Amino acid sequence: MVSQQSENAAYFLRERSKSAILRLKMAILTIITGKDSAILRTKTKEVQTITKEIKTLVESMKETTVASNGAGIAAPQVNRTERVCIAMLQKKLTPLINPEILWRSTDVETMEEGCLSLPDLWIQVTRPREIVVKFLSLTGKERELKLSGFDARVVQHEVDHLEGILIVDHATRN
Ligand SMILES: [Zn+2]
Repeated sequence: MVSQQSENAAYFLRERSKSAILRLKMAILTIITGKDSAILRTKTKEVQTITKEIKTLVESMKETTVASNGAGIAAPQVNRTERVCIAMLQKKLTPLINPEILWRSTDVETMEEGCLSLPDLWIQVTRPREIVVKFLSLTGKERELKLSGFDARVVQHEVDHLEGILIVDHATRN
């Protein structure tokens, strides 16, 4: 016979392990926060080979972005040092491996930006309106995209993260 109390406890444990398994499958990663966090200030290293580990990291970063309602995320935000980020381009979460901004327009635009690593903070950031970015796709294909507006802004924000730069740095520069 099981008392009501222990039945509740068993139920609780069951539910808890279920959600733990779910978390594992979805691999939602912990987002590092705070403008002075060391990892957020670390310049990332180029990916040499797109291994299975990198692919898993990308999947987890996508899941984490969706779960946090973000428009993108960069490796340092999930405590990693690879030059990898995810950006919402044309409403699709796109992985960018070793992204490099090749060109920036002189035409700039100021918009309010938030960051998953700086909760509840909104800052006016001035950035070039258009960019050309070069990166590797998850299959290792070299791609070059000309982006404008929101897409260009998200990529610039994420590439900043890969250099250890946060939106608060833009605020002091303005
Ligand atoms: Zn950010």
